Amino acid sequence: MEDTRKAGRRDFIKSSALAGGALAVPGALQRQEARPPRRPRAPRARMTLRWRPFTAQLRHVFTITVSSRSTTPDVLTEIEYDGVVGYGEASMPPYLGETQESCIAFLSKVDLSRYSNPFELETILADVDAIAPGNPAAKASIDIALHDLVGKLMGQPWYNIWGFDPAKAPYTSYTIGIDTPEVVRQKVREASEFKVLKVKLGRDNDHEMIQTIRSVTSVPLTADVNQGWTDRQRALDDLHWLASRNVIVVEQPFPKDAPLDDLAWLTEHSPIPILADESCQRLADVRRLLGAVSGINIKLMKATGMREAHRMLILARALGMKVMLGCMTETSCGISAASHLSPMVDWADLDGALLISNDPFNGTTVVEGKVTLGPGPGLGVTPVS
Ligand code: MG
Repeated sequence: MEDTRKAGRRDFIKSSALAGGALAVPGALQRQEARPPRRPRAPRARMTLRWRPFTAQLRHVFTITVSSRSTTPDVLTEIEYDGVVGYGEASMPPYLGETQESCIAFLSKVDLSRYSNPFELETILADVDAIAPGNPAAKASIDIALHDLVGKLMGQPWYNIWGFDPAKAPYTSYTIGIDTPEVVRQKVREASEFKVLKVKLGRDNDHEMIQTIRSVTSVPLTADVNQGWTDRQRALDDLHWLASRNVIVVEQPFPKDAPLDDLAWLTEHSPIPILADESCQRLADVRRLLGAVSGINIKLMKATGMREAHRMLILARALGMKVMLGCMTETSCGISAASHLSPMVDWADLDGALLISNDPFNGTTVVEGKVTLGPGPGLGVTPVS
């Protein structure tokens, strides 16, 4: 019985294939005739990489634990393939060690003309990563431009390619830098659109900063200590004090090379989640930090771009860790690139483009505090004309 059924199915498939082939010919011919002439696919199309230095002008002098500044050095990149252009960016706050010169020196070593297929992200980006150690922002500027290009070639935004729902994008925090009480109050009033504010701590005026903000607003706060605390008992006391004032999460309390045991002790006793930022740069750090922190802050400029950031996100989620998505002061190019990951994170800190006054791109926006992704393919960015 079984054999008969199988044989019958084989015969049916065989005969219907033959019949289909015979019957389908006229229709297929008609369909072919109706099809518009194929655009020549430029069999020898090659990718070309371009770059130019750019200086992001900050709206306010920006102070964190380790520095103050009013501009951020940046390099804008483009990768062109078959008439399609992908945009990328390296943002390089000086304390991270990369410069426009080091970035351009790195980009000069990248030969994308070797690759005929831009969809081979895995191969191309592994090769770029292997050119030299370090240089994460320079590498990100290639990765982001290549993702933009590939998304445009596919005609899809990256949140669709990754399978994320843009409606789930979170509210972003807006950062209040360390400043005098009058300036802090003014910045907080200007930020009334935001549902979460981020406060920079780690100097000797942490309590004053919080009390100043609390004199204006009661919105939840995220706090970034930027490695500024050293004593673990005092850190724990401060965490309790912060938690009682509706601070909901704290980034990088200790120096990045502090013993993991101290961090693990603090995380275990803390009333609120502790995230690693400076001590979590790339994929390998996620596993190393498991058990020592509640979660990680992923930034494209640390992680060498979207590809590794996506991996860090998926790994952290698989390990049960919390995820914040952060940024440097960046144009809407870098911020839009990061925003495609945002539907999957616990907290977004994607205010980088809002902090600059000369943004050369339109892209992902912030609407009433919420990260708002557009329908455009790739990163969804267009240059400001
Ligand atoms: Mg941070």
